[in-house]
Amino acid sequence: MRIFQAKSFFLVGLIWISAVVAAPVAYAQKIGTGFERFAEEHRFALDLLQSLNERSVDLNYEYCGFIYYDTSGLLRATKPEKGGTHSCLPVFPEDSSAIFASYHTHAAYDPNSLNEYPSVQDMEGDFSNAINGYMATPGGRLWFTDAQKRLSRQLCGYRCLVFDPSYREDPRSRPKTVVNLNTLRQITDEKFAD
Ligand SMILES: [Zn+2]
Repeated sequence: MRIFQAKSFFLVGLIWISAVVAAPVAYAQKIGTGFERFAEEHRFALDLLQSLNERSVDLNYEYCGFIYYDTSGLLRATKPEKGGTHSCLPVFPEDSSAIFASYHTHAAYDPNSLNEYPSVQDMEGDFSNAINGYMATPGGRLWFTDAQKRLSRQLCGYRCLVFDPSYREDPRSRPKTVVNLNTLRQITDEKFAD
């Protein structure tokens, strides 16, 4: 099984585009289309993580896997693995021609965690595998870690996906919408300073 650099995903993506089944309009409006380089992949991930986040928040387990192109160039997701409340170990696909991204959820709201952001380990893991990453939060956010740009950004904000109603956010102190590894390390250090 080979893992390709993020740069090569686009070429495979072009072949696959004609086979895509359009996601519901409401989703497309939420993440925008037409200008996003990975608009189709983002919609696929949004669709997958919408239902997975409901289970993740309900049962308070993380779920994880990979989004990849199979040997026919079709976009697929591996069956979600169930992890713990703060961890999950995805299983690599066997019929992959290129892995596009990892995906995972962050279980239910936990006031002692920084679960509205990807973790430093989340970002480092994707970067070391040279793949992108999708992550859903208990607040209903969908994050995309871009391996080429070396940053993570929200594709969809607070309460966009199915969310944990016990998590309520002060509109004056929302999480940042884009982070790189340095910013994320600072935010993490501040959160766990005391
Ligand atoms: Zn995570």
